[in-house]
Formats: sequence, C-alpha cells, structure tokens
Amino acid sequence: MIAGERVVVVGAGVAGLTTAVVLAEAGVSVHVVAEQVPGVTSLAAGAMWGPYLVEPKDKVDQWGQRSLEIFRKLAEDPSTGVRLTSGIEASRTAEAPPDWATALPGFRPCEPAELPAGFSAGYRFTVPLIDMPVYLAYLLRRLDTAGGTIERRRLASLADAAPTPVIVNCTGLGARNLLLDPDLRPIRGQHVVVTNPGLTDFFSEDTGLSPDLLCFYPHGDTVVLGGTAIDSEGHLAPDDTAAASILARCAAVEPRLAGARVLEHRIGARPTRARVRVEAEWVEGGTVILHNYGHGGAGVTLSWGCAEEAASLLTAGGGDGR
Ligand SMILES: Cc1cc2nc3c(=O)[nH]c(=O)nc-3n(C[C@H](O)[C@H](O)[C@H](O)COP(=O)(O)OP(=O)(O)OC[C@H]3O[C@@H](n4cnc5c(N)ncnc54)[C@H](O)[C@@H]3O)c2cc1C
Repeated sequence: MIAGERVVVVGAGVAGLTTAVVLAEAGVSVHVVAEQVPGVTSLAAGAMWGPYLVEPKDKVDQWGQRSLEIFRKLAEDPSTGVRLTSGIEASRTAEAPPDWATALPGFRPCEPAELPAGFSAGYRFTVPLIDMPVYLAYLLRRLDTAGGTIERRRLASLADAAPTPVIVNCTGLGARNLLLDPDLRPIRGQHVVVTNPGLTDFFSEDTGLSPDLLCFYPHGDTVVLGGTAIDSEGHLAPDDTAAASILARCAAVEPRLAGARVLEHRIGARPTRARVRVEAEWVEGGTVILHNYGHGGAGVTLSWGCAEEAASLLTAGGGDGR
C-alpha cells in the first residue's frame, strides 16, 4: 500500500465509497470526486445481499462471501442501516433454491401453508437487508472519520482527476462515457417506497429473467417494493404505470401493503457487464487506474469483496476483470 500518497477515487456510489473507506482505513490519503454524492443507482437499491445479473460466478461467490461476513458485523450496529432479516424467496414454478441461499442461517424449505396463493415452492432464510440511504450516509461518515475528503464534480475524462499517481475508477455506468467501454449497459430498475404497515420479513419472487420483479424489503418505518429490470434502458424518470404494477404485485402477496402510503420512487440503472471489472491498468506517465465497476444487480452484495481486491491491486499489480 502507498501510505501517505494521494489517491483519487472517482465515484461515490457503494463501490466508490466502500473502496475509499478500505483505502483510507489502510492509511492512504483518499480524495473522492463524484458528480452525485451519493450515487443515485446505489441509493435506488433495495437492498438485499444476494447475487443478481452479475458475472463471473466464481469471483462473484468469493466477493459476495467476503461482503456477507462484513455486513453481518455491521448489522450489530443499527445506525449502519444493515439488518439481518428473515424472509422468503418463492417461485411459481417449483424452482430449486438459489445456491447462494442454501448456506444462509435458518435456511429451510417452506411449508405449503407459508406460501402466498399461486406459489409452488419457497425457501426461508436470514440475510442482510441494507437501507441504502442510511447505509451510504454511514459510509460517508466512516470515510470522514478515516480522513477521506469529498468533492462534487463531473469529470469529462478520468485524466481530469490528476495530478495523482493512482485513480480509482468506481463510476458505475459512467464508465461507458469515460472509457467508451462497449461491454457496459444499463438495466433500469424502479422501486416504490411506502410506509411500513407492520412488516418484519422480506419477500422475494424468483422471477428469473423477467423484467417484472416482485419483492419487498422492510426497513423499520418504510418498505421498499420492487421492481423492474428493463434491459438496455437507462433513463431515470419514474414510470407511473410500472409503479402501479409494482404496488399491485406486492399487495397481491401481502394485502397489508394495499393501503400503505407512497413516500418515494427510486430509480436506477444497474451497471451491467459480461464480467465485473476489478483490474489495475497502467497508463502513460506512470499513473495507475484501478477499475472497480460493472456490478450489475449486485453492487451492494459484492461491495466489500471488490473494494478489498481493488485496494490489494495497489501492491499486487494485476486483476481479474477481463
Ligand atoms: C432498482 C435497483 C435495485 C437493486 N437492488 C440491489 C440489491 O438488492 N442488492 C445489490 O447488491 N444490488 C442491487 N442493485 C445494484 C446496485 O445498486 C448497483 O450494482 C450499485 O449501486 C452500483 O454501484 P456503483 O457505485 O458502481 O454505481 P453508482 O451508484 O451509479 O455510482 C457511480 C458514481 O460515479 C459517479 N460518476 C459517474 N460518472 C462520473 C463522471 N464523469 N464524473 C464524476 N463522477 C461520475 C456518479 O456521480 C456516482 O457517484 C440494485 C440496483 C437497482 C437499480
């Protein structure tokens, strides 16, 4: 690690803030530059720990497990916005359980009586749910405590982050313009946030590759209802028809949601790539660019594992992103 040297992290979503925290707590002088603080896609996440729309599987498993370990510790402090929550993932077509869920605490197949009408299989387990506005505020506080600084600025190119020997690229979908990465595409997602009518458990349907998702994640006084996954769409305007469908799908499974007051619509575009890119690149003039982007629908799930690997590349030299 290059203790004392200044590193510029570009991006203040969950990828940028987590990487900045890891570096700053290791003694590196960290300055974050980002147009949005925090990143809107990260704010829009539900967020449940669990891989979705992300590859490659071997690295995803490794990064996800490391993050799970850390989220479990963070859940001991409610001010982080992380809570270990029990709930059900269910299917209408008798799917096998997701492999990432079977090792989670409390994992068991549901009794038929536990499942909503129309569902043929389901699994109960306990998993970290992350209240993203609270969690991103926690990361910002933790970065501040570690001595990191933040600047709101849009960069026309990564080179505009200089002078610095190391640029950490955590720009999510922004990497499409900054790097002209042809492999990166948006998958638009919409959530509706409502008042909590008394839910304590999460629910999620295994909807496969459908653009219409069904999930609800209670976060204390509020519940995040989902959702959508519209491939190659990146606009962030709320879609009223989609919001009404989300409410109807969720209320069909949990009737108490039917009367819940709508507080907010959260929209983001999942930065999706054939492979998450965590890799070091040496550019002319000796600058190192550490890439950490392209986390699809699992940027929160992978955040700590990817951040630690990106930070380790400063000394190791290399990566596994391409
Ligand atoms: C509806 C929805 C639900 C989701 N649910 C989950 C879930 O349950 N679990 C999970 O793990 N993941 C989930 N995700 C995925 C997760 O939100 C993303 O993978 C993650 O937020 C990506 O984080 P990021 O930091 O890479 O990007 P972002 O949050 O988009 O941050 C990018 C940052 O880069 C900055 N930036 C970009 N370009 C520039 C530039 N030119 N100059 C300066 N700054 C720039 C932006 O301003 C921003 O600060 C969900 C996503 C959506 C949309």
